[in-house]
Amino acid sequence: MSAAISLSPDVLAKYEPVIGLEVHVQLLTVTKAFCGCANKFGSAPNTNICPVCLGLPGALPVLNAKAVEFATLAALALHCKVRERSIFARKNYFYPDLPKGYQISQYDKPLAEHGWIEVPTADGHTKRIGITRLHMEEDAGKSLHEGFADSATRTYLDLNRCGTPLVEIVSEPDIRTPEEAFEYLTRLKEILLYTGVSDCNMEEGSLRCDANVSVRPKGQEKFGTKVEVKNVNSFRFIRAALEYEIERQIEVIESGGSVVQETRLWNSNEGRTYSMRSKEQAHDYRYFPEPDLPPLIVSAKVLEETEKRLPELPEARRARMIAEYELTAQDAQTLTASREFADRFESAAKTAKSPRRVANVLLSEVGGRLKALGLEPEQSPVSMTGIVLAADLLDEDKISSRQMKQLMDIAFEKGEDFGIVYEREKPQQITDASALEKLIDEAIAAHPKQVEQYRAGKKTMAGFFLGQVMRASKGQANPVLLNELVVKKLEG
Ligand code: ADP
Ligand code: ZN
Ligand code: MG
Repeated sequence: MSAAISLSPDVLAKYEPVIGLEVHVQLLTVTKAFCGCANKFGSAPNTNICPVCLGLPGALPVLNAKAVEFATLAALALHCKVRERSIFARKNYFYPDLPKGYQISQYDKPLAEHGWIEVPTADGHTKRIGITRLHMEEDAGKSLHEGFADSATRTYLDLNRCGTPLVEIVSEPDIRTPEEAFEYLTRLKEILLYTGVSDCNMEEGSLRCDANVSVRPKGQEKFGTKVEVKNVNSFRFIRAALEYEIERQIEVIESGGSVVQETRLWNSNEGRTYSMRSKEQAHDYRYFPEPDLPPLIVSAKVLEETEKRLPELPEARRARMIAEYELTAQDAQTLTASREFADRFESAAKTAKSPRRVANVLLSEVGGRLKALGLEPEQSPVSMTGIVLAADLLDEDKISSRQMKQLMDIAFEKGEDFGIVYEREKPQQITDASALEKLIDEAIAAHPKQVEQYRAGKKTMAGFFLGQVMRASKGQANPVLLNELVVKKLEG
């Protein structure tokens, strides 16, 4: 939650926020961007290092082809135009966690430009947020300010992260609300996860976001002065930080001041941002072309091959699944939450008599129970195979839906898979017509008024008798046979 700034809705409504996001994403390569060191999170400090990533004199970088492939894949998934010839550049600055004194990045000729992401808007439409560029660069090391006995007086360095391959994805200033920023990030992460180029784990720093935000009076074309908010480690906090920052800037302007261009830090405990450095202290990175690396060439042929490796992306997959399995948008969203889950669902559904019914059992029976118990999908006692079995049994009328629900209840109660419960319980089905007829006769005798209504033309009354007999049979009546007999009796 953001700290309260009290501005009336009228005042807030006079201004329009403008937001642009810069996202750094670590690529899931086995080795680093320019050397053979392991690209691994969580190793003992300073164990994945070598002369190249430490920037020792004379050590030369060699570009990791896998990093290029991943960056290109991400660029294509974000609808970017990939440059055939891009240039690495040195971004010079001094910081203890940057032993080389510069980061290898890309500057005026980035790998890719002019992409977009589509986000849902508040009024139920979609909106395209432009992506200015996607470029490759390397990560810096990490300063450790906490956790040591002498942390009050010393900072420690872990250089394992030096040289980790990154892509930086810069959005156009097209975002207008904190909610849109949240949606953009959610979609971006989803797309990147589908391509498999990053694990996008924010806690481990594989996805990091800086948010740029300004406000302008509504109707004014010129952008206001922007502030960059750094150090925000969840999408929810980014939304909160933007909400806070928008109100802060409006308040500054309303009280006659002007917004200072600066970098601010988000403090999640206090729910507010703090000034970190103003533009005066900001860096001049003295970019120049990296002399130790040749231009990066991504030929048309390589690009075409990379394009073929693009998986079906979340948006397209949802649209297809909605049509194929007659799902609602919400259900499609649930089933495609991760590519892995969607894959598991679809390969299981293919083996079933009715994929549509598999989706149904998965979402309402298993999903509903998981939700009620506060469990994650991977904690489900009922496997995808169990779900397919349940769907097929329903489809072949071997069990009634009431029996299926009872078996599911037992499965969740005992933590057993559906197949195990079914084999043990083997619910009885009454397929003996004379036994069912007896129950129907009883129901008809007990409800003369409903019989009259049926015979007067209210055919939906058949459903009433179906329910009565199903209940009387404790859910064991074979539904197809029952249906047939009920109609016959009522007509007769
Ligand atoms: P800088 O030169 O400070 O790095 P850029 O023009 O490269 O600024 O933009 C960095 C990010 O800030 C981009 O995501 C861009 O969309 C966003 N941005 C630029 N100008 C503004 C503005 N006035 N208000 C909000 N965001 C902005
Ligand atoms: Zn190295
Ligand atoms: Mg910039």
